[in-house]
Amino acid sequence: MTRLPDSLWWDTLAEPVTPTAPLTEDLTVDVAIVGAGFTGLWTAYYLAKARPDLRIVVLEKELAGFGASGRNGGWASALLPSSLATLAHEGGREGALALHAAMRASVDEIIRVTEAEGIDAGIAKGGTLVLARTAAQERRARAEVDDARSWGRGPDELAWLDADQARQRLAATDVRGATYTPDCAAIHPGRLVRGLARIVQGLGVALYEQTPVTRIAPHRVETANGTVSADVVVRATEGYTPTIAELKRAVVPIHSLIVATEPLPASQWDEIGLAQRETFSDHRHLVVYGQRTADDRLVFGGRGAPYHLGSKVAPEHDSHPKVHEALRTEIVAMLPQLTGVRFTHAWGGALGVARDWHASVGLDRDSGLAWAGGYVGDGVTTTNLAGRTLRDLILGEETALTALPWVGHRSRRWEPEPLRWLGVNAGLRAMTAADVEERITGRPSVVARAMAPLIGGH
Ligand SMILES: Cc1cc2nc3c(=O)[nH]c(=O)nc-3n(C[C@H](O)[C@H](O)[C@H](O)COP(=O)(O)OP(=O)(O)OC[C@H]3O[C@@H](n4cnc5c(N)ncnc54)[C@H](O)[C@@H]3O)c2cc1C
Repeated sequence: MTRLPDSLWWDTLAEPVTPTAPLTEDLTVDVAIVGAGFTGLWTAYYLAKARPDLRIVVLEKELAGFGASGRNGGWASALLPSSLATLAHEGGREGALALHAAMRASVDEIIRVTEAEGIDAGIAKGGTLVLARTAAQERRARAEVDDARSWGRGPDELAWLDADQARQRLAATDVRGATYTPDCAAIHPGRLVRGLARIVQGLGVALYEQTPVTRIAPHRVETANGTVSADVVVRATEGYTPTIAELKRAVVPIHSLIVATEPLPASQWDEIGLAQRETFSDHRHLVVYGQRTADDRLVFGGRGAPYHLGSKVAPEHDSHPKVHEALRTEIVAMLPQLTGVRFTHAWGGALGVARDWHASVGLDRDSGLAWAGGYVGDGVTTTNLAGRTLRDLILGEETALTALPWVGHRSRRWEPEPLRWLGVNAGLRAMTAADVEERITGRPSVVARAMAPLIGGH
């Protein structure tokens, strides 16, 4: 059997892991979905709910939730990798705002489904606090609030908190203020993804785990032990997409790594804060993210692991002792209240980045090929919106969701190697350098400004 991923989430699932049987025959179905992460499972869920008569199969290389969906930081946020300004280039101001509103609603939709289906995913909608801990970070945070106002987004969507207000929520070091949005829920992603896998099977969806797909072609999916013919084939493989023939340059896998503490006593949380289980970060360039879990641990993650030549994704890339150690050091520097606590888990996973840092969802009617992905580090909620959008596209319905500006967006392919390796790693190193530069100079980074057009997004 596939080895279970090494993460806190897989260690604290609500139900035992019993893999389904692999595919051993040829099949003809209506919809074949490749990949049983959130994208694949939300798509299967909404399709099966809307049309119980459809024959739907999900083919998964390892286990449902094996990829990023079962390993992430558990921020079900309303964030997208593209800014409103970028989205407005395609969909105009209205379209960009409609997509943003759909993302906010999707956070509540996830909560609704988990309650309706009885999935205990330890959810708390406490919002997100992003601290400003240097002068440059404060400038960036205030600019973000100004930008939100220019889009008509008020303090109910993004508020500026002064230093005292911010520290009341999270008693971190060097706090100068923070931005706060209510649009995020902290979740246990492992329980959500495994719960969804169980629910969709109950709805009649056939899930074949331990079934690597070797080729995706129009109306056809190939595996070693059977071919599936389908009206529609959904690619839901995100960071692992380059492992499939002919899709090597579609997205780049970037590894994000996480550490988690033991459960902390209430007295320690009284000193730290996060009383509403707010997810948290700060306004540095190289993304970090944290959450207080339902069982009172602190989970803290960040990027910084190198990109591997040829977009390789392998289990050994899920662990990087230097980056894990840096994360432990960083969170204790941010929250000295953690000094001496035991870190019980360290893990990682691959997320997917499109060449223009733009998430997209779509269906080509002629070939029957559908896809969703390129979420970067913002896929937990976006996959839910993708699942409902794919349902509408596959059923041929024109809805408010299918009119959103990310639908049908095509990102160009990444460069061939070794250019891809050079560019991606230079970008990752530049973001680390930019944070160091800002700490030393106290001014917005020149490196970050120079690199921004090349690497896009945050
Ligand atoms: C460490 C980490 C932290 C993150 N934190 C957050 C966060 O806090 N909030 C947030 O919004 N996003 C976060 N993300 C991103 C988010 O987890 C992903 O965007 C999201 O889970 C993607 O879901 P998916 O279903 O598209 O892909 P995945 O969950 O990666 O699923 C893809 C599936 O396809 C399967 N597969 C691959 N190749 C094949 C094949 N050939 N045949 C069959 N199956 C195949 C894989 O085994 C996998 O199960 C994080 C990602 C990582 C890695």
